[in-house]
Order: sequence, then C-alpha cells, then structure tokens
Amino acid sequence: MLHKVSLGTGNINKYRLILDRETIDEVVALGEELKGLRVCHINSTPFGGGVAELLVSHIPLLRSLGIKADWQVIHGDRRFFTITKGLHNSLQGAKFTATRAESWRDLYLSINKVNAAQLDADYDVFIVNDPQPAAMRHYLPDNKAKWVWRCHVDSSQPDETVWQFLRPYIEEHDAAVFTTSKFIPETLKLKRIATMAPAIDPFTSKNMFIKRYLCREMLETLGIDRHRPLITQVSRFDRWKDPFGTIAAYQIAKEKVPGLQLAMIGSFASDDPEGWEMYAALNEEANKDDDVIISSNLTGVGNMEVNAFQRASDLIVQKSIREGFGLVVAEALWKGTMVVAGNAGGIPLQMPGELGNYLVDNIEQCAEKIVYLLQNPQQRERLGQAGHEVITHHFLTPRLVRDELALIKELMAK
Ligand code: UDP
Repeated sequence: MLHKVSLGTGNINKYRLILDRETIDEVVALGEELKGLRVCHINSTPFGGGVAELLVSHIPLLRSLGIKADWQVIHGDRRFFTITKGLHNSLQGAKFTATRAESWRDLYLSINKVNAAQLDADYDVFIVNDPQPAAMRHYLPDNKAKWVWRCHVDSSQPDETVWQFLRPYIEEHDAAVFTTSKFIPETLKLKRIATMAPAIDPFTSKNMFIKRYLCREMLETLGIDRHRPLITQVSRFDRWKDPFGTIAAYQIAKEKVPGLQLAMIGSFASDDPEGWEMYAALNEEANKDDDVIISSNLTGVGNMEVNAFQRASDLIVQKSIREGFGLVVAEALWKGTMVVAGNAGGIPLQMPGELGNYLVDNIEQCAEKIVYLLQNPQQRERLGQAGHEVITHHFLTPRLVRDELALIKELMAK
C-alpha cells in the first residue's frame, strides 16, 4: 500500500480570529453538505517544497469540516524522480532532454502503474498533484471516484514533447486545477478547468507568531550577526529560484549597504534529485564571502527557524525566474516582512498595486530595490503591512478549502 501521511484534525473555528465571518461560515456550510465524503490527495513527497507544505495544513482543515480526508504519497526510484523533475522543468518551459530518449516514457508509466496498484482506491474524490502521479488515473479505469489533476507549476508554455506526452493522461481526469488562468495550456481539453491559488496556514509552526527577540536568538546560533542588516531567500535548491541571481544582486547591494548579510535557506525534497548539485555549487560561491550563509533542513533549519528568518530579516528576496505560486512570498508578507521578488508566475498575484513596484526582471533591478528598501525602513514597514493585508484576505487556507470543496461539490453533482 502507498504511504499515508499521519496528520491530525484541525479546528476551523480558530480561523474566526483572523478571517471574516462570511468566509468561515461558507466553508463550514460546504463541509456540512459534503460531510463524510472521502477525499484523497496524492503527491510524490511528504516533505520539502510547496505541495507538501500545503497539504500539511489543508488535510487537517478538511477533516475538521467532517470530510474524510487523506494524503497518499507515491514512491519511485532516483531514475523516476530524475525523469519527473525533467517533466516538472519542461512544464515550466525548459527543453526536455532525456538521456535515453525512448525509455523515459516507459519508465514513467511503469512506476505510475505500480503506484496505482498500491493505491488505497476507496475514495470518492482523488486530487492528483503535479506531473509525477499524473498517469495513475489511467491505470485505474474502473475506479468510480472523481479525479482532479492539480497543477502547481507555471505550465503556460510547456515543452511540446512533454506536454503532448502528459496531455492524454491529464485529460482522463474529470477536472484540472491551475493556480491562475494564465497557466492553462492552450491545447488542454477537459470539461472542467478551474483556477484556485494556493494558500498558507497562519497557525503552523512555520507561520505562527514568534517574538522578535526569540527569532534574533535563533538566527544568532545559525551564524547571523543581529546588529547588521540581513536579507534572506528561502527556497528549494532549484535553478528556477535563481539563487545565483540572488547572490549577484546581494553583491551589488552590499556596495551601498555596508555590512549586509545574505542567508540562503534551502531545503531538499525526496522527489528532487537536482538539489544536491545546486547545493554544492552554492556552497562554493558562499565560501567566497563570510556574510553569505547557506543553511538547510539538513543543518537544523526546520519550520520554526524558517519562521524566524522570515520575521527577523530586514527583507525577503525571492528572485524566481519561474514560479508556480511561491508560498514563501505569502509566508513573508503574512509576517509583515516586505519582499523583493521575481516578476514570475504566481508571485504577482500576491503583490498587487504598490507592492508590484518590487517585482523585478533582472539582477540590477533586484539590487536597486533591495538597496531602496533597506535605506527606507518606514516605507518597508508600510509595504510589509500592506502585504499582510493581501495575504489575510486572499491567501489563507480556509479560502483554498472553500474553493476546493466548491469544485468537489460541483463534480459530485454530475
Ligand atoms: N521551505 C522550507 N525550508 C527551506 C526552504 C523552503 O521549509 O529551507 C518551504 C517554504 O517555507 C515553503 C515551501 O518550502 O513553504 C516552498 O514552497 P514554494 O511554493 O515557495 O516553492 P516550491 O518549492 O513549491 O517550488
């Protein structure tokens, strides 16, 4: 059987402290209508990266509404995850380069078949996250559940070879969900295509309130000098997050902001074999400058520490070139910490209006915005607060649960 991630049950009423009554009442009403429904999310890793982060709070909240929600994780070997990382990259527009041109399709499908055979299939709805398990539905043709494919990446301009391969498997689903309508590939044919943005949970250890002095203390033990300015990027070690671009922007900014420190906080995910090479290359770069600190989940940076970095940094940088959504942007803004971010994918959704002036298209712009905000603390504070409002109103978990349940209700009625 596939691994089911152990999780508890949340408490929807807690969110009444933060969100307006209508939203919560709407979520509770949907839960009552769908009470007892068996819903299962499927993905390819229980930790590392945005999808795992999302499901950790999403599933307990579904349960708190009376939904029988679970999360099953597929397994595969390094070859499979190398292929699926290639598929992931190519959905985001990179040219697909398989080492052994013909066999990648067979390998991908055979692993999906094995996982399909091991799936606990006794559910009313399956939500299949991202390309790794996208062919499982194909191998369970008699399964009576509703199947939804949930895409978390910017698939607006996918590589043609990869898209033509995946498309028929995706089209076997009852619906597909994208973060924004911009990401829907033109040729996708499905009766129902929905859009809903991801969300963060204000009550997890990643996002809960921690006093600033505790954050500073945590950071000090990780090598940060609390008396000097600090900028931080938090992301998987992944080329689309442009970590070298961030370092280059920091180097330019440092000329104008003496003593500036840069923390690059990264995590590894079990379905991301490319992370190690990137980690090694980044360490090499960091060794040239004592004020560049690289830390990861392997060296003690867990959710609390990420929380502390996002709260205690003067500024968060997320210089992504492609980005499905970028939960890290929402996490920082939720804490009132201003962000300078790549003008990519789902990030602009989170930085509307004046915040959009801090979306950047290149290294020089990134450096310029960093310097401006570091030199103007009042502006920074004000913009951080504006960001907090955006996240509160649009990107907290109950809104996502509401959107998902509304779609499920619609599919179950058919
Ligand atoms: N993350 C973490 N530790 C790290 C780096 C990232 O906990 O060292 C978390 C981060 O806080 C966020 C998620 O991983 O919740 C990354 O999600 P995002 O949507 O930003 O990017 P993805 O990895 O899905 O491309």
